[in-house]
Amino acid sequence: MKAIIIGAGMGGMSAAIALRQIGIDTEVYERVTENKPVGAAISVWSNGVKCLNHLGLEKQTARLGGIVDTMSYLDAHTGETMCRFSLQPLIDEVGQRPYPIARAELQAMLMEAYGMDEINFGMKMVSVADGPDEATATFADGTTVSADVIIGADGASSITREYVLGAPVTRRYAGYVNFNGLVETDEAIGPATEWTTYVGDGKRVSVMPVSDGRFYFFFDVVMPEDSDERENYERGDAREVLRGHFGDWAPGVQTLIDKLDPMATNRVEILDLDPFHTWVKGRVAVLGDAAHNTTPDIGQGGCSAMEDAVALQWAFRDHPGDVHAALVAYQQARSERAADLVLRARKRCDVTHGKDPGKTAEWYAELRHEDGSNVIRGIVGNIMGGPVTPVS
Ligand SMILES: Cc1cc2nc3c(=O)[nH]c(=O)nc-3n(C[C@H](O)[C@H](O)[C@H](O)COP(=O)(O)OP(=O)(O)OC[C@H]3O[C@@H](n4cnc5c(N)ncnc54)[C@H](O)[C@@H]3O)c2cc1C
Repeated sequence: MKAIIIGAGMGGMSAAIALRQIGIDTEVYERVTENKPVGAAISVWSNGVKCLNHLGLEKQTARLGGIVDTMSYLDAHTGETMCRFSLQPLIDEVGQRPYPIARAELQAMLMEAYGMDEINFGMKMVSVADGPDEATATFADGTTVSADVIIGADGASSITREYVLGAPVTRRYAGYVNFNGLVETDEAIGPATEWTTYVGDGKRVSVMPVSDGRFYFFFDVVMPEDSDERENYERGDAREVLRGHFGDWAPGVQTLIDKLDPMATNRVEILDLDPFHTWVKGRVAVLGDAAHNTTPDIGQGGCSAMEDAVALQWAFRDHPGDVHAALVAYQQARSERAADLVLRARKRCDVTHGKDPGKTAEWYAELRHEDGSNVIRGIVGNIMGGPVTPVS
């Protein structure tokens, strides 16, 4: 059995490792020429960490992960603490600490675990086709490769998805732009082992620890679809733009704006995709963002891609030698769960970003009485329900 994986992102690499673990020959093709992910870090929630552990990466993941002991919400303007609570009840309930991890390091960990030299970089797939005995991918340089199965882990603008669905789909702009990067931890912004979030005016600014004394930071700026500001941005403008949107926020936010490196700050327009449940066409299947592109509001897009990889492994393990049965089982195991996470993220996105200002004001009021139990219940609800976090 041979599988071709298109895309060496966190979904594709997890899938390649997972399939190889059960003895399937794998080949990975990636369009870029080196590991240079867009975005500074992600929070790998406990379900994602459990998937990485399953792939044999427990020690490496723990080494790269930031330690988050507490969470807090602060008033945007005064910096007053609205609530602060321990994350330990969450860790106890789900049986695994979450780890925020720098993206480039997570990506390098996966690539090194698979074998950096074994990844075919600089190979942009331009088309994919299913056949009776094998599936074939064609690359921009004209070469073709064939295998028993092709897994399209080619991200949010997947062309594998277009093939599987038989038509292109349009992603939905979620109404905000995210600026993110890494800075040294600084108590003036937030405690070094806390996930600190400043909220107000339908916006948020957040820092959480990754390894080696660094914070992963992000700013969410609400920007209407037709806003001129969406068009007019040059890399390096981050400090000026963020000062414009957050200039009257609390001193901790001003410290963060002063400290960030504008040239190393990423700006990402946030989009998602309506869930769909056809993930497979013959011997071709989608995985990760190609199958379920979500807003990052519950930090589950990458975790969900890792869950796909484990579910794909189990589907092939349970249907050895039968590609069609395995892919149907994979789709059944994953599409509802992934859709649920996309819709949960959308809901959270709307509340966080003031789509209905009344609801957002209610949320701010709740935060002032929060002892952690409601927030943790919500996060546990996101974590549970995947292959390694079954709901009993
Ligand atoms: C601002 C932001 C914050 C986020 N925060 C979190 C978080 O905290 N937690 C979390 O779990 N998730 C988070 N996510 C989501 C997460 O980044 C994605 O879900 C995850 O990267 C998906 O992995 P993937 O491998 O499916 O896709 P990608 O990471 O996009 O990888 C796809 C790969 O395919 C390659 N490729 C594309 N087309 C082709 C082609 N034609 N031929 C060959 N190669 C191709 C690309 O170059 C890329 O390397 C966040 C996303 C954003 C935007």
